[in-house]
Amino acid sequence: MSNYHIKSFDEYYHVYRKSVREPENFWEEVAEEHFLWRKKWDKVLSWDFNKPEIKWFENAKLNITENCIDRHLHIRGDKTAILWEPNDPREAAQHITYKQLHQRVSKFANVLKEQGIEKGDRVCIYLPMIPELAVAVLACARIGAIHSVVFAGFSSTALATRINDSTCKMVITSDGSYRGSKTIDLKGIVDAALEECPSIETVLVAKRINSDIEMKEGRDQWLQPLLDAASDDCPSEIMDAEDPLFILYTSGSTGRPKGMMHTTGGYMVYTAYTFKNVFQYREDDVYWCTADIGWITGHSYIIYGPLANGATTVMFEGVPSYPDSGRFWEIVQKHKVNQFYTAPTAIRALAKEDQELVEKYDLSSLKVLGSVGEPINEEAWHWYDNHVGKKKCPIVDTWWQTETGGIMISPIPYVTPTKPTYATLPLPGIQPALMDENGEEVKGNQVDGRLCIKFPWPGMARSVWGDHQRFKDTYFSAFENKYFTGDGALRDEVGYYRITGRVDDVIIVSGHNLGTAPIEDAINEHPAVAESAIVGFPHDVKGNALYGYVMLKDVGESRDRDNLRKEINQQISDKIGPIAKLDKIQFVTGLPKTRSGKIMRRILRKIASKDTANLGDTSTLLNPDVVESIMEEAIVS
Ligand code: ATP
Ligand code: MG
Repeated sequence: MSNYHIKSFDEYYHVYRKSVREPENFWEEVAEEHFLWRKKWDKVLSWDFNKPEIKWFENAKLNITENCIDRHLHIRGDKTAILWEPNDPREAAQHITYKQLHQRVSKFANVLKEQGIEKGDRVCIYLPMIPELAVAVLACARIGAIHSVVFAGFSSTALATRINDSTCKMVITSDGSYRGSKTIDLKGIVDAALEECPSIETVLVAKRINSDIEMKEGRDQWLQPLLDAASDDCPSEIMDAEDPLFILYTSGSTGRPKGMMHTTGGYMVYTAYTFKNVFQYREDDVYWCTADIGWITGHSYIIYGPLANGATTVMFEGVPSYPDSGRFWEIVQKHKVNQFYTAPTAIRALAKEDQELVEKYDLSSLKVLGSVGEPINEEAWHWYDNHVGKKKCPIVDTWWQTETGGIMISPIPYVTPTKPTYATLPLPGIQPALMDENGEEVKGNQVDGRLCIKFPWPGMARSVWGDHQRFKDTYFSAFENKYFTGDGALRDEVGYYRITGRVDDVIIVSGHNLGTAPIEDAINEHPAVAESAIVGFPHDVKGNALYGYVMLKDVGESRDRDNLRKEINQQISDKIGPIAKLDKIQFVTGLPKTRSGKIMRRILRKIASKDTANLGDTSTLLNPDVVESIMEEAIVS
C-alpha cells in the first residue's frame, strides 16, 4: 500500500493511523519515493514548539525547481505545465510545456544572477497573473533567492511596507495589468512605493499593456531584452532542506500582516502530497485554481504542488465577471478542466447572477470542486454542488492557512463522504486538538474549542521574517506545546471538523460561545440574503449582543425591512436557537473585504461598538468606500 496516493476510506484510516503513530517513518517514505534529492537527510525531524524550532529532513540537499521541472523533462517534456488564460477571451491562451518552462525559468534565473541577485537575497515580485509571474517565482527558487510575492492589487503603501519589512533588493513588475475592462498602472504604484524603499537596487519590468511609462535611469530595466540575451542553461543552486524558499505576508484580516517564512524541503513534500490527494490528480487531468499567486493558495496549489506532480495547471489573468459572470464556466468548458478550486466569496458572487450563465456551458469534464479561504456557508455549498458539480463532483472544503503551507483538514474526494460546511477530517500527518479556555484539551466528539495542532507537519512556516518572537507569541504561546491556529472549530459525532470562524470573532452572549460562521450560515439561508457578517457589541445585560450586517439579493431590495428583520431572526432561532438572535440588523450594499475576498469583521466590530476613531490597518481593504457608507448608516441607538 502506498502512502502517497489514497484511494479508499479504509486506506485513509490506515495511512492516517500510521502517520500519527510513526510520523517520521511516514514522511520519510513519502519523501524518499517521490522526490529528487541531491543528498538525503541525516534526521527526518527535530522540533521544539517552545523555542519554536522545527526542522524537517535535516541536512538534506535539493532544489525545488528540479523537482517541479527538470525531472519531468524526459517523461513529460512536451506536456503542458502551465496553461495560461488571458484576461480577454479573444486573446490566445498559452500552453507552456515543461520543456519551455525549463527554458524560460533558466533564462530568467540567469538574468537575476547577472543583475547581482544571490542566494538568500530577497526579491519582491509584484506582477499580474501573467506567465512571467510563475516563471519569476521559479527563477528565484532556481538560484536560491527568497521570493516575496505581493499581490498586484495592493497599494503603494502596502507594497512599500512589505518591501521594507524583508529588505528586498529587487522588484519585478510590469508596465501595467489588465483586470476585466480596466487597466492598472502597476509601474506607477511601484515608483510611488520605491520612494520609501532604500534597499531596492533594481526594477525589472515586463511588458504587458504596452503603456508609455517612465523608466528610472540606473534602476529600471525592461525584462525582455535581458531574457533574449540570457543563456538557457542555468544549473540549479543546491539548497539545504531548511533554507528559506519564500516569504509571504498573510492577508491581514486580523491586523498587521505577518511575513511568514517557509523553507524548502518540507514545504515541497507537503504541498505535493496534499495536492495529489486532495484533488486526486491523474496524469492527463487539467487542474485549475482561481486564486492569485499573491496568496498562499496560489503558491502551493498553482505553482509548487501541481508542478511537483507533473500536472497541467491553469493560470487565469482575469476576473470572474469579465466579459460576463459566465467567464469561469466558459474557461472550464474551453480547457476541459477536471479539478476546479475557488473561494466562497466567488461562489456567492456567481450564485447571485443569472443561472443561465452557468447552465449554458458544458461542465461535464469536472471531477472535483474545491473551496478555500473562509467557511463556505450551506447555501453556497449546495449551489456549487447543484449548478457547477451537477451533484456528481465531491466538494473539498479545504481548511488551512498561510502559516500551514498546505491543506490541513479536508475531505479526500471519492474517499471521504462530504458534509456541507464541514472540512471533515485531518489529512495524514495532521493531529488537530480542540482546547478549552483553561488550556485543557477537549476530548471526544460533539465538542468545540480552539483549534490547535499537536505535532509538526512538513509544510508549516518556520518563522515570521525578522521577528521570531512574534512567531512564538502568535502561534506557540496560547497553549503549551501546541500550534494555535486562531480559529475555532467543532467536532461532530463522527469526528468531522467544522471551522466556526476566528477565535477573535467569537462572541460570548449570556455566557454562550457563539461562532460567527454558523450564525451567518443561518442568515444566508434566507432567500433574500446574499451575504452577511455578524459581530458582537457591548450590552448591559447580556455582556455582548449581536449586530448583523446583511447584504440583500436583488429580490430582497423591494421587501419591507422590518419584516425581513423578523424573518432573519426567526431563521436564526430555528437553526441555532433564540440565544443567537440579532439585536441589531443593518442592511448594507456591501461588506468590507480583504483583497483576497474575506470579510473583515474587525472593522465591522468597531462600527458596531461606535469605536470608529481608529479602524486599525485598512491598507489591505478591497473596498474602503463601503466602510464609509456602512458608518454613515450605522444603527446608533
Ligand atoms: P491574517 O492572518 O493576516 O489575519 P488571514 O488569516 O485571512 O490573514 P490566510 O492565511 O490567507 O490569512 O487565511 C487563513 C484563514 O482563513 C484561516 O485561519 C481561517 O480563518 C480561514 N479559512 C481558510 N480556509 C477555510 C475553510 N475551508 N473553512 C473555514 N475557514 C477557512
Ligand atoms: Mg490568519
